[in-house]
Amino acid sequence: MTLPATLDEAVAALAAMPAAVPVAGGTDLMASVNSGQLRPAALVGLGRISEIRGWQYQDGHALLGAGLTHARMGRPDFAALIPALAAAARAAGPPQIRNAGTLGGNIASAAPTGDALPVLAALEAVLIVAGPGGARREVPVSHLLAGMEMLRPGELIGFVRVPLLHAPQVFLKATGRTGPGRAVASVALVLDPARRGVRCAVGAIAPMPLRPLEAEEWVASLIDWDGERGSLVPEAVHAFGEYVAAACIPEQPPAADGTEQPLPPAVLHLRRTVAALARRALGRALS
Ligand SMILES: Cc1cc2nc3c(=O)[nH]c(=O)nc-3n(C[C@H](O)[C@H](O)[C@H](O)COP(=O)(O)OP(=O)(O)OC[C@H]3O[C@@H](n4cnc5c(N)ncnc54)[C@H](O)[C@@H]3O)c2cc1C
Repeated sequence: MTLPATLDEAVAALAAMPAAVPVAGGTDLMASVNSGQLRPAALVGLGRISEIRGWQYQDGHALLGAGLTHARMGRPDFAALIPALAAAARAAGPPQIRNAGTLGGNIASAAPTGDALPVLAALEAVLIVAGPGGARREVPVSHLLAGMEMLRPGELIGFVRVPLLHAPQVFLKATGRTGPGRAVASVALVLDPARRGVRCAVGAIAPMPLRPLEAEEWVASLIDWDGERGSLVPEAVHAFGEYVAAACIPEQPPAADGTEQPLPPAVLHLRRTVAALARRALGRALS
């Protein structure tokens, strides 16, 4: 395994060995190797690249290194900056996974159950991607997750730019039997007082996080941004949960003869879970 010391050295190593695969914490990659799904010809380890293991401030934003581990993001100093991402990091698997697994690996794996992903979608985060010859380009996380843009061969996620909103944000996750601590549904919700916005993303129920844009706009219009944010009536908080769930898991279209088609029980249960998570997330953010 090659162990470069800088991002550009890592990109150069990948260019020199096109069959090599980058590895950060190895929690996802080694699972694929161990199950025989992947046989990389060579590995480029990212664990010694100190420039991507911390964060820095940039014009009201934080530039997060892709090598930040879940354990690091879960600490109080990080939680004070980006509370929802810290909450997602604290919920990401057992301690040994959180100690090794990284932000960049979570994004590149793009698993529906990736806990950081709905938070990054709600924050409208942008990736700084490193390419050959010191090149850097920006890719919205949502574009990558939707398949609208891809990492080109030899490119690496270097940093993730997220806005510092200085307002409540919440991440909640429901787990089931899909694996150790993996989400069956999750909700990230952030308040953006400067833009008078509420942004919400639902994770794990689809290949990529879903944004219920109309529900966001509707609830943002009800909030008293200049006064008591917490004055929203409970009925509105409840309705927001239902609105989010209906946007993400719509009713079945009627049958050809016009009769209503109920959702299968498992889907109905998931819909109720999403509604409850969204309702609680909004309630906590406004309280
Ligand atoms: C038992 C278990 C439980 C888990 N539970 C959870 C959970 O609850 N929540 C959750 O979100 N995840 C969970 N995971 C998944 C995993 O830990 C995370 O997705 C983790 O963040 C992956 O990071 P990594 O550094 O280990 O990635 P790696 O395994 O090193 O890499 C994963 C993929 O990303 C690529 N990659 C890594 N870094 C970069 C980069 N900088 N640029 C481009 N490509 C890159 C690699 O080439 C590889 O394809 C779990 C995994 C296990 C094994």
